[in-house]
Amino acid sequence: MVLILPTVSAASETNPERILDYPWDHSPITVYIDDSNVPEHYSPTYYAQIEKAMKYWEEGGNGNLEFTPVFKLVDSKEADIRIKWVENLEIVEGAPPGVAGYASPMVSDGRYVKVDIVLEVGNYQGKAWRQYGDGTMLSVAKHEFGHALGLGHSSNRRDIMYPEYEQREDLNPLLLSKYGPILRMAALAAFAVLLYLGVSWQRSRKKRKKLEDKYFK
Ligand SMILES: [Zn+2]
Repeated sequence: MVLILPTVSAASETNPERILDYPWDHSPITVYIDDSNVPEHYSPTYYAQIEKAMKYWEEGGNGNLEFTPVFKLVDSKEADIRIKWVENLEIVEGAPPGVAGYASPMVSDGRYVKVDIVLEVGNYQGKAWRQYGDGTMLSVAKHEFGHALGLGHSSNRRDIMYPEYEQREDLNPLLLSKYGPILRMAALAAFAVLLYLGVSWQRSRKKRKKLEDKYFK
């Protein structure tokens, strides 16, 4: 959860929707999917959604990457990207309500060193628990992988990186104007922030709109 911000030179200067143009200094990018320590409502079909999400980005994704990623699944927790599921992010990880997943990058010298992706398998709608279907899992996985590949959020509603179900206050702080000036300070060596690059599921549009207005006008 603690992020060391990349230095200025590493941030994208050509595409505002990218945090880093080249987040990984090697290829393939190794991926570990933890499908052994899974929560109660995990579905074995989720695994294939991760594979589909990886393929999506290998085939160009949303067109906003500066490079073509190649992934390699490995059976090691030393992998570059580690994926795990929890029953509910709000309860298990203390995430704000409505966050369905997040990607937490560890950054060193303007590159990602590790990215942990945590996905929840369902959420409460009112008092009723509802498990995510494969379609939702795929969308959330694609979105979080996008973050793991250096992308921030898109302002295009049709883009997978649009925070469709996301709480705006959990936006990557790198992109918030409040942090912009800090980012531009080359002297900044290290700066820790709490990062939730999450996608939430079916939360109040009204609240989102309000936050949108606040941050994106
Ligand atoms: Zn996001």
